[in-house]
Amino acid sequence: MLDDYAEQIALNGTRLGRPESPALEGAASKAIENAFRELIEHRYFYQKVTVDLTDMDAAIKESVKQAKIELARSIGPVERLPTPATPKRLEELRREVGARPWRLATRNLGDNPSTAKIHRIARTGAQPIGTDVNDMNLHFYLPAVRLQCASRCKGSRTFTALPSSHDSEFDSPYPRKLPAGTEQVFAAVYRCDMCREAISTILIRRVGLRLHLCGFAPRREPLPVKSLPEGLVPILNDAEQAVAEGDLYGGFYHLRTMLEHYLKTRLAIPITQQIRGDDLVENYYEALETGIKGILPSLTTAWEKLSTWLHTRTGEAEDYQKQRDDISKHIEVIVALGAGAFAKPSLSQPDAKSAAAQNKTQSGPPSR
Ligand SMILES: [Zn+2]
Repeated sequence: MLDDYAEQIALNGTRLGRPESPALEGAASKAIENAFRELIEHRYFYQKVTVDLTDMDAAIKESVKQAKIELARSIGPVERLPTPATPKRLEELRREVGARPWRLATRNLGDNPSTAKIHRIARTGAQPIGTDVNDMNLHFYLPAVRLQCASRCKGSRTFTALPSSHDSEFDSPYPRKLPAGTEQVFAAVYRCDMCREAISTILIRRVGLRLHLCGFAPRREPLPVKSLPEGLVPILNDAEQAVAEGDLYGGFYHLRTMLEHYLKTRLAIPITQQIRGDDLVENYYEALETGIKGILPSLTTAWEKLSTWLHTRTGEAEDYQKQRDDISKHIEVIVALGAGAFAKPSLSQPDAKSAAAQNKTQSGPPSR
């Protein structure tokens, strides 16, 4: 069994006769695969992910060093010394990765052994001798990813890419050279490994070294947050879907609503009761045991920031993620601590379900 790095090199072959290759191709395709995983598992639409080529720099330096050692050992005339891996040269090679067409491959070769052979042969796609280095295909594997299976499994499962995944078909306008780098659109077809029923087709656009998530069919199920009271889950799902679909300010609104519901249920205040947000957070902190206040992510900060962003229509998807994670972490710890978290024991067992039921009959804006 090949390790990851050897596998990427085998995929790319050694078609470029130079000391930097195939180290460059091996490390770059691994980095591309990692960027696809990050994008598919964690990013929202049109958030940018840049392929991290740090490991490629190190691999090239090592490869050039080895080439020099081998040259020194060899007998006979030296035709040409390897180009030193200077910062300028490494930058040039990064631009090369941004310019070369990327060709996707899948480790899964299909369910049918006879078509698996065709897929294997089709992937080798030789290019004419003398092809410019910036036009040489760079092959990479679509990664296995963790996604929510909405079919039979109803949970987080490994999904693998099927060989019907594709980049540019014959006569496609892609890959297309743009000033910022080569543009391509990939359509990755993923299937749940466990039930083999859930299928997602994912659209990803690439310009140079940057990737954007552009589509999910059917839409991606949000990841469950550990220990979140049941009544809050649908509100967080609304927040996640709003941000996933590009409505960031809608996401801030839903997340703050979730926080409001959490605080009111903890304080046994009816959802319909009007109370200023600042007072709500203050009352909650008064109820908490003094010792744990400082160690938890701050809900005061979360409330203030979410309010500011949704009123001023500012903030980024990363800001949303940070507050979502902070609020979730806070709630998770409180749930784990149980009655010990509160000075007033009556607040330790909120009925989040009934709060959610109350909310269904009330649709006004959250109190401020
Ligand atoms: Zn499944």
